[in-house]
Amino acid sequence: MLGTVTTGQPPRPRSHRPRRSRAVLVVLAVAGVSALVAVAVVVVPLVRPPGPRPLFQLPVACGETWQLGTYPGHDDYDVDLFPIEGQAWGRPVLASYGGTVTVAGVNGSLGGRTPEDPDGPRGRGGGYWVKIDHGGRWETQYLHLLEPPMVEVGQRVEQGEQIGKVGSTGNSGAPHLHYEQRRGWEKVEAYFDGAPSGITHDDTEYTVRRTSNNCV
Ligand SMILES: [Zn+2]
Repeated sequence: MLGTVTTGQPPRPRSHRPRRSRAVLVVLAVAGVSALVAVAVVVVPLVRPPGPRPLFQLPVACGETWQLGTYPGHDDYDVDLFPIEGQAWGRPVLASYGGTVTVAGVNGSLGGRTPEDPDGPRGRGGGYWVKIDHGGRWETQYLHLLEPPMVEVGQRVEQGEQIGKVGSTGNSGAPHLHYEQRRGWEKVEAYFDGAPSGITHDDTEYTVRRTSNNCV
């Protein structure tokens, strides 16, 4: 009569090894999901095609006429704005279009050019500046502001909302607003109220006058 065949040893507790491999699987799964999320959140927005051009407005007060210009060595598509009447110092700088502030700080160094000391030491780069993400991979930039920006990173701004004041911080010769529109990775010709500015390169000096329709 056959009894139960045994090895004579108690069955091995198998709990340890499987538990460890399950932990490894969980870690791998979490890593995989994280990688997918990173691709979805970081990579996809960078490679997806830009959306249609927002209806950008001149970044200065409604009804005011300003001179838009560039000069050799500026950079292609860069626009410098000077008011045709009155002082530039302290004039309101307005968001060209609604969006989310992605930069509000100092680019380069401020230097020491102020309304009281307009020929003070020149700074480097953009000085006080703001960058706004308008969605669809469109951005605008506002440089050489007089004072720390009036907005914070992450803040939602509406078209026509004041974000700062015209100044001469950074590498600036005289108080003015340096302005750029960007699509995806590149600067593009700035359009205002649906019309191109005509500033497409910095091979020659060029100026044009436009009246702001940045009206709320
Ligand atoms: Zn400029």
